[in-house]
Formats: sequence, C-alpha cells, structure tokens
Amino acid sequence: MKLCNAERLQKHIELFAKYGETPNQGVTRLSLSAEDIEARKKFQEICEQSGLTVTFDDMANMYATLPGKKSLPPIVMGSHLDSVVKGGRFDGVLGVLTALEVVQSIQDQKIELDYPITIVNFTNEEGARFEPSMMSSGVLSGKFNQVDMFKSTDNKGVTFEQALEQSGFKGEKENRLTEATAYIELHIEQGPVLEHFEKDIGIVEGVLGMVCYEISLHGESNHAGTTPISMRKDPMFEAAHVIVELQRKLKELDPELVYTIGRMNVYPNVHTVIPNEVTFTLEARHKEAAVINQVEEIIFNLDKKVELCTLTYQNLWSRDTVVFDEDVCKSVNDASEKLGYKGNLMYSGAGHDAQFISSYIPSAMIFVPSIKGYSHREDECTPYEDCAKGTNVMLNAVLQLAKK
Ligand SMILES: [Zn+2]
Repeated sequence: MKLCNAERLQKHIELFAKYGETPNQGVTRLSLSAEDIEARKKFQEICEQSGLTVTFDDMANMYATLPGKKSLPPIVMGSHLDSVVKGGRFDGVLGVLTALEVVQSIQDQKIELDYPITIVNFTNEEGARFEPSMMSSGVLSGKFNQVDMFKSTDNKGVTFEQALEQSGFKGEKENRLTEATAYIELHIEQGPVLEHFEKDIGIVEGVLGMVCYEISLHGESNHAGTTPISMRKDPMFEAAHVIVELQRKLKELDPELVYTIGRMNVYPNVHTVIPNEVTFTLEARHKEAAVINQVEEIIFNLDKKVELCTLTYQNLWSRDTVVFDEDVCKSVNDASEKLGYKGNLMYSGAGHDAQFISSYIPSAMIFVPSIKGYSHREDECTPYEDCAKGTNVMLNAVLQLAKK
C-alpha cells in the first residue's frame, strides 16, 4: 500500500489556516472574499509549481490536473476552500489539500497512471456569503439555475456575479467538470460517531434524505394582564403540547432517525402580549424514504384544532436520500481495510458537493473523525494523524480505480 507524505500535508493545512485566520485558531474565508482569493492564488501557485494544469470554469470552480498516459475521463478529488464565519481550519479545505497530497504523492513515487487526476475546488459550498450552499456543484449538476445564482446577494448588496467578475477566477463554461471516471471527496465528519466508536475512517455510502416542515399555531393576541386565562386563545401553550406529542411519536420510529426543532417564532414576541401565532420548524433525516414518510404521516395527523387554536403546516423543503456509487465506495473500503484502518460504513447527515456531483459522476466520500463532533466553529479539530490516514485511503482508492 502506498503512503502519503504526512509532514507535507500538515504543512499545507497549517499554511491554508492562515488565510482568513481568526484569533481563536479558526478561519473566516467567505466565498470569493479577499481571504478566499488569497487562498485560491496560493492553491494555484502550489499546483502549477507541481506541474499541474490549472483551469477555472464560469462558476470560478478551480481544476488542477495531472495528465494521464491516455486521454480518459479523469479521476477527480476535491471539496471547497471557502468557510463559514468563524469556521474551522479543516471543513472543506481538507478535501482540497488531501487531494493535492494524493497527487504530489503519486508524483513523488513516480507512479504512472493511464487516467488524468484532477483536484477540484468548488466555489461557494458553504452558502455563508451567497445562498444557497453547494451553489456551484448545484449549477454543474443542473440542480440550480445559473442565472438565479448570479443574482444571489451578500449582506453588503454585492451579487455573486459581481464577486465572480472581480475575483479574477471566472473562466470558461467549457472548462466545467462534465465527464469523469469517479469523484471522491474527503471531508471531516462534522459529527461525533467516528470518535465515539474509535474508528479511523468513515466510508460514506450516501447522504441522508430529509424533510423540513413549518408548523404554526394560530390564536389571538390580547393584553397579558387583563385577559382572564379562560378567555384566551393562547397558541404558545398549545405549541408546547404539540411539540411534546411530536417527540413522543417520533421516538417510536427507527432509532436512526434524527429530528430537530431548530427555529421557533413567536408573534408579536412581546412579554406583555398574548401571542397570536407560534411557528416552529421540524426537520427530520433518515436514509429510508419509508421512515421519512412516517414522519410526514405524524405531521399530517396532528389535530388541526388544538383547544381554541388552529394548527397549520407547510413543507419548506425536502431532499431524497443520495446513494453513492458502489464501486467507488468499495475502492475506499478496500483501501481502508488493506491499510489496516478501522472503517465505518455510514451515511452523511450533512450536505456536501458530492451529493450533487454524484448525480452524474460515480462518487463516494471519505470521512475523518471530528474531535467531539465539533464543526462550523473555530475549535473544529481533526488530528493530523487522522488527516494522513484519510489521505492514504484516498490515494490507494484512486490507484485501485485507475487500474480498471
Ligand atoms: Zn464542508
């Protein structure tokens, strides 16, 4: 089995943590910001010094390619260099830098492959500056309309299109990732499972499907001091009952189901006023559509009349479970086993570029452990040793795919 250069990988992770560095060891590197552009330039420089060809497409996605002996569709690896506000130094950037390390290890070890190997940096994965997240992989896979995306505006009124034009990284549409042999994305787990079960590597078989509903209870506003309890239509206490009822029923479903009430709005949200409306979101994720359907049944069957209040609901959005390519997953699993690592077959609860790319390129993901599951925070951490293990898995998975 081949091994990467763990020292060089660590150096690169530390180097890129400087772009947008925050006082608490995190990074703020919003898409196409000055910090992101500096990181992109550095990435381009390192790739070109390594003899790779760097191109950009019309969404400013970056591609660095090591040519193969034959003109075949490339094997692609990568992720994203952008971050959220006060994010960590591993989310996204690790997938790009481990891909770079795979290519540099192939070069160091003078391994000649028939297939070209491409590293990709997807623009605006986080959606932290310009909504939505996974914007560019969404455009490439036809999930999002480019014209709409260009109009997306940051909180200073700058459109994505303007930021793109000013970035110096806008390239040609013809450079888009269209055809590839495989796509592998290494990412931090962003959850506690690998650490908890003392596993080294997550072999990610897909991304969980999810639904998100908004449930509202409607009552009547009035003075909080003068209205007797018996004469109120107070939706807040009814919302509490509904939530307890939801939890009781959801608990009875498959134990792998995850559900969250993450947002609640109270109107008018004044302490001297009985609310006239309470609205909350219920989001649920599971790999089986049947279980998601059970969640929906529970919502549909809620009483529409709760005491004196009425209940309404609407679906905000949903996505189907994405199942990754069996062959590419197998190459990841084989590599992990042959390296003697403890692997864990799992689904991703979070969204990633791979979920869109997998709609037209055989894809899989590799997870490495997140300490305490922390992510999207400055103290997000994956030990360097685990980063190197993930890279070794990706390197050998690519070599196995390239033998075909
Ligand atoms: Zn990410």
